[in-house]
Amino acid sequence: MTNDHSERTHAPLGGSSAYRWTNCPGSIFYIKNLPPTLPGPAAIKGTDIHEIGEKCVKDFLTHKLDGTPIPEPSPDIDKDYLEVALQYRDIIWQKVLRESLTGKAFALEDRLVIHDHLGMYGYLDFWVIYTTERAKRRGVVVDLKTGVHPVPVDKNPQLAFYAVALREEIRRGGKDLDEVEGVIIQPALEEPHASTLFTGKQLDIWHKRFFKAAESIFVRNKPKFAVGDWCKFCPAKAVCKAYSKEINTKTSLALAEPEEMTLPRPEMLSDEQILKLVTHASSLKDYIDSVIDYAKNRYVGGNPVAGTKLVQGNGRRKWDLHEFKGIVECLKLNGICEPTEEVLLGITVIEKQLVRLIGKERATQLMDTLTTKPPGPVSLVLDNDPRPPLQSAMTLLDAAIESESN
Ligand code: SF4
Repeated sequence: MTNDHSERTHAPLGGSSAYRWTNCPGSIFYIKNLPPTLPGPAAIKGTDIHEIGEKCVKDFLTHKLDGTPIPEPSPDIDKDYLEVALQYRDIIWQKVLRESLTGKAFALEDRLVIHDHLGMYGYLDFWVIYTTERAKRRGVVVDLKTGVHPVPVDKNPQLAFYAVALREEIRRGGKDLDEVEGVIIQPALEEPHASTLFTGKQLDIWHKRFFKAAESIFVRNKPKFAVGDWCKFCPAKAVCKAYSKEINTKTSLALAEPEEMTLPRPEMLSDEQILKLVTHASSLKDYIDSVIDYAKNRYVGGNPVAGTKLVQGNGRRKWDLHEFKGIVECLKLNGICEPTEEVLLGITVIEKQLVRLIGKERATQLMDTLTTKPPGPVSLVLDNDPRPPLQSAMTLLDAAIESESN
């Protein structure tokens, strides 16, 4: 790895959250008082892929520049992640650089700043600058997305943020850009490359928009909240009065006032109420998930919500596949002639056969040696639950990752 991305500081007004803070500047006031959050499994996976992608692109472009051989990937790298990273590398080379480095300046994982003092900066996956056939000085900003939900490229505030920031960096160096192309590479999609062009005028408009939001936060110091699509990834959902009020209004449930919470039986609801609930089901679910995440983070941060604790559920057994051949041999020795159908048969199927052949006690002992049992999912429960509470943040993080990968 060339760079540990997880150690970067998060900009208060960063590129990845620009959609939220430009629409809801008040979110900054909530977020600064939230307990520290553990990265979820999707965030950890994204960081890993970005680090592998950075190395793949860097090795490849170094090879193109001076002939240095491309090193073999480390055997420890997850094959699926490597595949995504190589696809990212190929799109950078073929579609962004058009298979040439001549007359181009570029950088990877660069910290681009609009205004350092106001915390307006972000780390961009890749940028390149060159002069077009129409003699325009063009910048290209590239954002790698590792999720499966399509991220739109048009009017994308994150891309606009990086486009403005790249132009600011170039201006600080005494030059300028006429236009900036924004590119999203999302390998999970059928069409993984999408781009949009920001003209100089459009960049001016975005520049004003970013500073207007920053001004309302830092100068006027007056929280202004607005509920919308951008709330989806807002870490303050669980404590945000505007958001819970919106949910209450939309669904007719008094969620913000637990003492008044009334959950009528479905058959007692009118058709109009049912329609409201069905229409806003995903917002409701998001809200409840964010309340649970918030309570988990409070527990990890040492300030649990009174009456709650985190516990570990039961994991599911799986074959210890590092020992595939050994397992097959061992099962054959115990009387199971065909334990595989290219992959091993289900654990329960084999176990039942073993019980018949060698008895329950020996079958259980044998299965314990042939299978592994990762930790189960971490859940937030009331503190009268008989399971012991989880202790440390690292245990929680490991358990969350393990249970997600099962
Ligand atoms: S949940 Fe929505 S309205 Fe509330 S602070 Fe976050 S972005 Fe703003």
